[in-house]
Amino acid sequence: MQIAFIGLGHMGGPMAINLHKAGHKVQAFDLATAACEHVKAAGVQIAASGEAAVKGAEVVISMLPASQHVEGLYLGRDGSGGLLAHIAKGTLVIDSSTIAAATSQKVAKAAQAAGLAFIDAPVSGGVGGAVAGTLTFMVGGSDADLERARPVLEKMGANIFHAGAIGAGQTAKICNNMLLAVLMIGTSEAMSLGVANGLDPKVLAEIMRRSSGGNWALEKYNPYPGVHENAPASKGYAGGFGTDLMLKDLGLSQENATAMRASTPLGGLARALYAAHSLAGHGAEDFSSIIKMVQKKG
Ligand code: NAD
Repeated sequence: MQIAFIGLGHMGGPMAINLHKAGHKVQAFDLATAACEHVKAAGVQIAASGEAAVKGAEVVISMLPASQHVEGLYLGRDGSGGLLAHIAKGTLVIDSSTIAAATSQKVAKAAQAAGLAFIDAPVSGGVGGAVAGTLTFMVGGSDADLERARPVLEKMGANIFHAGAIGAGQTAKICNNMLLAVLMIGTSEAMSLGVANGLDPKVLAEIMRRSSGGNWALEKYNPYPGVHENAPASKGYAGGFGTDLMLKDLGLSQENATAMRASTPLGGLARALYAAHSLAGHGAEDFSSIIKMVQKKG
Protein backbone atom coordinates (compact mmCIF):
# COMPACT_ATOMS: atom_id res chain seq x y z
CA MET A 1 0.00 0.00 0.00
CA GLN A 2 1.24 3.53 -0.68
CA ILE A 3 1.16 5.63 2.48
CA ALA A 4 1.93 9.33 3.05
CA PHE A 5 3.26 10.06 6.54
CA ILE A 6 3.38 13.70 7.73
CA GLY A 7 5.17 14.55 10.99
CA LEU A 8 8.29 12.53 11.79
CA GLY A 9 9.00 13.58 15.38
CA HIS A 10 9.53 11.39 18.44
CA MET A 11 6.41 9.35 17.62
CA GLY A 12 5.84 9.80 13.88
CA GLY A 13 9.43 8.85 12.98
CA PRO A 14 9.35 5.32 14.42
CA MET A 15 5.74 4.82 13.28
CA ALA A 16 6.70 5.63 9.67
CA ILE A 17 9.73 3.34 9.94
CA ASN A 18 7.52 0.45 11.12
CA LEU A 19 5.19 0.89 8.12
CA HIS A 20 8.23 0.86 5.82
CA LYS A 21 9.59 -2.28 7.52
CA ALA A 22 6.18 -3.95 7.05
CA GLY A 23 6.57 -3.53 3.28
CA HIS A 24 4.42 -0.46 2.63
CA LYS A 25 5.63 2.21 0.21
CA VAL A 26 5.96 5.17 2.57
CA GLN A 27 6.46 8.75 1.37
CA ALA A 28 7.26 10.82 4.45
CA PHE A 29 7.53 14.54 5.15
CA ASP A 30 8.40 16.82 8.08
CA LEU A 31 9.13 20.55 8.17
CA ALA A 32 12.25 19.83 10.27
CA THR A 33 15.22 18.52 8.30
CA ALA A 34 16.66 16.67 11.30
CA ALA A 35 13.43 14.66 11.70
CA CYS A 36 13.56 13.71 7.99
CA GLU A 37 17.22 12.65 8.17
CA HIS A 38 16.58 10.18 10.98
CA VAL A 39 13.77 8.46 9.04
CA LYS A 40 15.67 8.58 5.75
CA ALA A 41 18.56 6.73 7.40
CA ALA A 42 16.13 3.85 8.06
CA GLY A 43 15.34 3.63 4.33
CA VAL A 44 12.09 5.62 4.18
CA GLN A 45 11.58 7.84 1.14
CA ILE A 46 11.38 11.54 2.00
CA ALA A 47 9.10 13.76 -0.08
CA ALA A 48 9.90 17.41 -0.86
CA SER A 49 6.60 18.67 0.60
CA GLY A 50 3.31 17.51 2.07
CA GLU A 51 1.72 17.85 -1.36
CA ALA A 52 4.41 15.62 -2.89
CA ALA A 53 4.02 13.05 -0.09
CA VAL A 54 0.27 12.56 -0.68
CA LYS A 55 0.61 12.13 -4.45
CA GLY A 56 -0.61 8.62 -5.26
CA ALA A 57 -1.19 7.75 -1.58
CA GLU A 58 -4.06 5.41 -0.63
CA VAL A 59 -3.71 6.32 3.03
CA VAL A 60 -2.47 9.59 4.59
CA ILE A 61 -1.30 9.61 8.22
CA SER A 62 -0.42 12.71 10.26
CA MET A 63 1.38 12.87 13.62
CA LEU A 64 1.70 16.56 14.53
CA PRO A 65 2.02 18.39 17.87
CA ALA A 66 -1.31 20.20 18.37
CA SER A 67 -4.70 21.31 16.98
CA GLN A 68 -3.34 24.35 15.13
CA HIS A 69 -0.79 22.23 13.26
CA VAL A 70 -3.40 19.69 12.10
CA GLU A 71 -5.90 22.38 11.10
CA GLY A 72 -3.13 24.37 9.36
CA LEU A 73 -1.90 21.30 7.48
CA TYR A 74 -5.24 20.06 6.15
CA LEU A 75 -7.30 23.24 5.86
CA GLY A 76 -4.57 25.86 5.31
CA ARG A 77 -3.72 28.78 7.55
CA ASP A 78 -4.99 31.75 5.56
CA GLY A 79 -8.06 30.33 3.86
CA SER A 80 -5.84 29.49 0.86
CA GLY A 81 -6.67 25.78 1.11
CA GLY A 82 -4.56 23.10 2.70
CA LEU A 83 -3.44 19.58 1.95
CA LEU A 84 -6.99 18.19 1.60
CA ALA A 85 -7.21 19.80 -1.84
CA HIS A 86 -4.22 17.71 -2.98
CA ILE A 87 -5.41 14.29 -1.77
CA ALA A 88 -7.14 11.99 -4.29
CA LYS A 89 -10.85 11.32 -3.71
CA GLY A 90 -11.54 8.10 -1.79
CA THR A 91 -8.26 8.27 0.18
CA LEU A 92 -8.36 7.43 3.91
CA VAL A 93 -6.91 10.13 6.19
CA ILE A 94 -5.79 9.03 9.67
CA ASP A 95 -4.81 11.74 12.14
CA SER A 96 -2.92 10.28 15.11
CA SER A 97 -1.98 13.61 16.76
CA THR A 98 -3.53 14.41 20.16
CA ILE A 99 -5.75 17.43 19.46
CA ALA A 100 -9.13 18.91 20.42
CA ALA A 101 -12.07 16.67 19.47
CA ALA A 102 -13.73 19.74 17.91
CA THR A 103 -10.73 20.20 15.57
CA SER A 104 -10.91 16.52 14.54
CA GLN A 105 -14.60 17.02 13.75
CA LYS A 106 -13.90 20.21 11.78
CA VAL A 107 -11.17 18.59 9.68
CA ALA A 108 -13.28 15.42 9.22
CA LYS A 109 -16.20 17.48 7.90
CA ALA A 110 -13.96 19.22 5.35
CA ALA A 111 -12.35 15.90 4.41
CA GLN A 112 -15.73 14.27 3.85
CA ALA A 113 -16.86 17.25 1.75
CA ALA A 114 -13.75 16.68 -0.39
CA GLY A 115 -14.70 13.00 -0.89
CA LEU A 116 -12.19 11.61 1.62
CA ALA A 117 -12.61 9.24 4.59
CA PHE A 118 -11.27 10.46 7.96
CA ILE A 119 -10.66 8.94 11.39
CA ASP A 120 -9.02 10.36 14.51
CA ALA A 121 -6.64 7.77 15.94
CA PRO A 122 -4.53 9.24 18.77
CA VAL A 123 -2.14 6.87 20.49
CA SER A 124 -0.75 5.87 23.87
CA GLY A 125 2.37 3.90 24.66
CA GLY A 126 5.16 6.47 24.40
CA VAL A 127 8.22 6.48 22.16
CA GLY A 128 9.05 2.94 23.34
CA GLY A 129 5.66 1.74 22.09
CA ALA A 130 6.10 3.60 18.79
CA VAL A 131 9.50 1.96 18.22
CA ALA A 132 8.29 -1.51 19.22
CA GLY A 133 5.05 -1.20 17.22
CA THR A 134 2.96 -1.83 20.34
CA LEU A 135 0.99 1.43 20.54
CA THR A 136 -2.63 1.61 21.68
CA PHE A 137 -4.86 3.37 19.12
CA MET A 138 -8.08 5.09 20.25
CA VAL A 139 -10.19 5.53 17.16
CA GLY A 140 -13.06 7.88 16.42
CA GLY A 141 -14.97 7.32 13.17
CA SER A 142 -17.22 4.87 11.35
CA ASP A 143 -16.89 1.07 11.61
CA ALA A 144 -16.15 0.89 7.87
CA ASP A 145 -13.34 3.47 8.01
CA LEU A 146 -11.80 1.78 11.06
CA GLU A 147 -11.82 -1.58 9.24
CA ARG A 148 -10.05 0.09 6.28
CA ALA A 149 -7.45 1.53 8.66
CA ARG A 150 -7.00 -1.62 10.78
CA PRO A 151 -4.33 -3.41 8.65
CA VAL A 152 -2.22 -0.22 8.68
CA LEU A 153 -2.74 0.50 12.37
CA GLU A 154 -1.80 -3.10 13.22
CA LYS A 155 1.68 -2.48 11.84
CA MET A 156 2.20 0.28 14.41
CA GLY A 157 0.16 -0.87 17.39
CA ALA A 158 -0.88 -3.86 19.49
CA ASN A 159 -4.27 -2.56 20.69
CA ILE A 160 -6.92 -0.87 18.58
CA PHE A 161 -10.02 0.46 20.31
CA HIS A 162 -13.10 1.93 18.66
CA ALA A 163 -14.02 4.74 21.06
CA GLY A 164 -17.04 6.02 19.06
CA ALA A 165 -17.83 8.63 16.41
CA ILE A 166 -15.28 11.14 15.05
CA GLY A 167 -13.63 12.99 17.96
CA ALA A 168 -14.27 10.13 20.44
CA GLY A 169 -10.68 8.89 20.07
CA GLN A 170 -9.48 12.32 21.19
CA THR A 171 -11.84 12.36 24.16
CA ALA A 172 -10.57 8.95 25.33
CA LYS A 173 -6.99 10.15 24.87
CA ILE A 174 -7.33 13.31 26.98
CA CYS A 175 -9.03 11.33 29.77
CA ASN A 176 -6.09 8.90 29.69
CA ASN A 177 -3.47 11.65 29.69
CA MET A 178 -5.13 13.57 32.51
CA LEU A 179 -4.87 10.36 34.56
CA LEU A 180 -1.27 9.81 33.41
CA ALA A 181 -0.26 13.32 34.55
CA VAL A 182 -1.81 12.77 37.97
CA LEU A 183 -0.08 9.36 38.24
CA MET A 184 3.28 10.81 37.23
CA ILE A 185 3.07 13.59 39.81
CA GLY A 186 1.96 11.13 42.51
CA THR A 187 4.72 8.69 41.60
CA SER A 188 7.25 11.55 41.70
CA GLU A 189 6.10 12.55 45.19
CA ALA A 190 6.24 8.98 46.52
CA MET A 191 9.68 8.29 45.01
CA SER A 192 11.07 11.58 46.38
CA LEU A 193 9.65 10.99 49.86
CA GLY A 194 11.11 7.48 50.05
CA VAL A 195 14.54 8.57 48.79
CA ALA A 196 14.55 11.54 51.23
CA ASN A 197 14.17 8.87 53.94
CA GLY A 198 17.21 7.02 52.68
CA LEU A 199 15.45 4.26 50.71
CA ASP A 200 17.13 2.86 47.60
CA PRO A 201 15.08 4.18 44.65
CA LYS A 202 15.15 0.81 42.83
CA VAL A 203 14.00 -1.09 45.92
CA LEU A 204 11.23 1.42 46.64
CA ALA A 205 10.11 1.40 43.00
CA GLU A 206 9.87 -2.41 43.00
CA ILE A 207 7.94 -2.49 46.30
CA MET A 208 5.36 0.03 45.04
CA ARG A 209 5.18 -1.56 41.58
CA ARG A 210 4.06 -4.82 43.17
CA SER A 211 1.83 -3.16 45.75
CA SER A 212 -1.44 -1.26 45.58
CA GLY A 213 0.30 1.88 44.25
CA GLY A 214 1.47 0.05 41.12
CA ASN A 215 0.98 2.00 37.87
CA TRP A 216 2.42 2.54 34.35
CA ALA A 217 5.13 4.97 35.54
CA LEU A 218 6.36 2.39 38.06
CA GLU A 219 6.16 -0.35 35.41
CA LYS A 220 8.25 1.27 32.70
CA TYR A 221 8.66 5.04 32.98
CA ASN A 222 9.96 5.80 36.47
CA PRO A 223 10.66 9.55 36.92
CA TYR A 224 13.64 8.80 39.19
CA PRO A 225 16.95 8.53 37.25
CA GLY A 226 18.51 5.08 37.08
CA VAL A 227 15.45 2.98 37.93
CA HIS A 228 14.58 2.19 34.31
CA GLU A 229 17.61 2.23 32.06
CA ASN A 230 15.64 3.18 28.94
CA ALA A 231 13.29 5.73 30.48
CA PRO A 232 13.88 9.45 29.72
CA ALA A 233 14.72 9.99 33.44
CA SER A 234 17.89 7.93 32.91
CA LYS A 235 18.82 9.99 29.83
CA GLY A 236 18.69 13.48 31.30
CA TYR A 237 14.92 13.65 30.54
CA ALA A 238 15.68 13.85 26.81
CA GLY A 239 13.33 12.39 24.21
CA GLY A 240 10.02 10.88 25.30
CA PHE A 241 6.88 12.97 25.77
CA GLY A 242 7.57 16.67 26.19
CA THR A 243 6.34 18.67 29.21
CA ASP A 244 4.77 21.19 26.81
CA LEU A 245 2.85 18.41 25.01
CA MET A 246 1.52 17.15 28.36
CA LEU A 247 0.59 20.74 29.25
CA LYS A 248 -1.31 20.96 25.95
CA ASP A 249 -3.23 17.75 26.75
CA LEU A 250 -4.09 18.96 30.27
CA GLY A 251 -5.35 22.19 28.71
CA LEU A 252 -7.59 20.11 26.42
CA SER A 253 -8.95 18.03 29.30
CA GLN A 254 -9.64 21.13 31.44
CA GLU A 255 -11.33 22.98 28.55
CA ASN A 256 -13.48 19.93 28.02
CA ALA A 257 -14.25 19.64 31.75
CA THR A 258 -15.34 23.29 31.79
CA ALA A 259 -17.59 22.76 28.76
CA MET A 260 -19.09 19.58 30.28
CA ARG A 261 -19.35 21.16 33.76
CA ALA A 262 -17.37 18.15 35.03
CA SER A 263 -15.38 18.13 38.26
CA THR A 264 -11.68 17.36 37.65
CA PRO A 265 -9.82 19.00 40.56
CA LEU A 266 -6.69 16.83 40.27
CA GLY A 267 -6.61 17.41 36.52
CA GLY A 268 -6.76 21.15 37.21
CA LEU A 269 -3.95 20.96 39.75
CA ALA A 270 -1.86 18.83 37.38
CA ARG A 271 -2.30 21.47 34.65
CA ALA A 272 -1.20 24.22 37.05
CA LEU A 273 1.89 22.24 38.13
CA TYR A 274 2.87 21.43 34.52
CA ALA A 275 2.40 25.10 33.55
CA ALA A 276 4.75 26.18 36.36
CA HIS A 277 7.22 23.45 35.39
CA SER A 278 7.19 24.64 31.78
CA LEU A 279 7.67 28.28 32.83
CA ALA A 280 10.65 27.19 34.96
CA GLY A 281 12.36 26.14 31.73
CA HIS A 282 11.48 22.44 31.50
CA GLY A 283 9.05 22.63 28.58
CA ALA A 284 11.22 20.66 26.17
CA GLU A 285 12.19 17.98 28.72
CA ASP A 286 10.23 14.75 29.10
CA PHE A 287 7.11 15.14 31.27
CA SER A 288 8.56 12.83 33.94
CA SER A 289 10.97 15.69 34.81
CA ILE A 290 8.08 17.04 36.94
CA ILE A 291 9.86 15.11 39.73
CA LYS A 292 12.34 18.03 39.90
CA MET A 293 9.54 20.12 41.38
CA VAL A 294 9.14 17.82 44.39
CA GLN A 295 12.70 16.55 44.86
CA LYS A 296 14.75 17.55 47.91
CA LYS A 297 17.72 19.61 46.68
CA GLY A 298 21.16 18.78 48.13
P1 NAD B 1 7.30 16.02 18.15
O1 NAD B 1 7.28 17.47 18.49
O2 NAD B 1 8.50 15.20 18.47
O3 NAD B 1 7.01 15.83 16.58
C1 NAD B 1 6.08 16.59 15.84
C2 NAD B 1 6.68 16.78 14.46
O4 NAD B 1 5.70 17.43 13.61
C3 NAD B 1 7.92 17.70 14.44
O5 NAD B 1 9.02 16.99 13.88
C4 NAD B 1 7.49 18.91 13.57
O6 NAD B 1 8.55 19.42 12.78
C5 NAD B 1 6.41 18.26 12.71
N1 NAD B 1 5.47 19.21 12.08
C6 NAD B 1 4.75 20.21 12.68
N2 NAD B 1 3.96 20.80 11.77
C7 NAD B 1 4.17 20.18 10.57
C8 NAD B 1 3.64 20.34 9.26
N3 NAD B 1 2.72 21.26 8.98
N4 NAD B 1 4.10 19.52 8.28
C9 NAD B 1 5.05 18.58 8.55
N5 NAD B 1 5.58 18.37 9.79
C10 NAD B 1 5.15 19.16 10.77
O7 NAD B 1 5.99 15.42 18.85
P2 NAD B 1 5.72 13.88 19.23
O8 NAD B 1 6.26 13.61 20.60
O9 NAD B 1 6.09 13.01 18.09
O10 NAD B 1 4.13 13.95 19.39
C11 NAD B 1 3.26 14.02 18.27
C12 NAD B 1 1.82 13.91 18.76
O11 NAD B 1 1.65 12.66 19.43
C13 NAD B 1 1.42 15.01 19.76
O12 NAD B 1 0.09 15.38 19.53
C14 NAD B 1 1.58 14.31 21.11
O13 NAD B 1 0.73 14.88 22.09
C15 NAD B 1 1.19 12.89 20.75
N6 NAD B 1 1.78 11.83 21.59
C16 NAD B 1 3.10 11.86 21.96
C17 NAD B 1 3.62 10.83 22.74
C18 NAD B 1 5.10 10.81 23.16
O14 NAD B 1 5.45 9.99 24.03
N7 NAD B 1 5.95 11.65 22.59
C19 NAD B 1 2.80 9.76 23.14
C20 NAD B 1 1.48 9.74 22.72
C21 NAD B 1 0.97 10.78 21.95
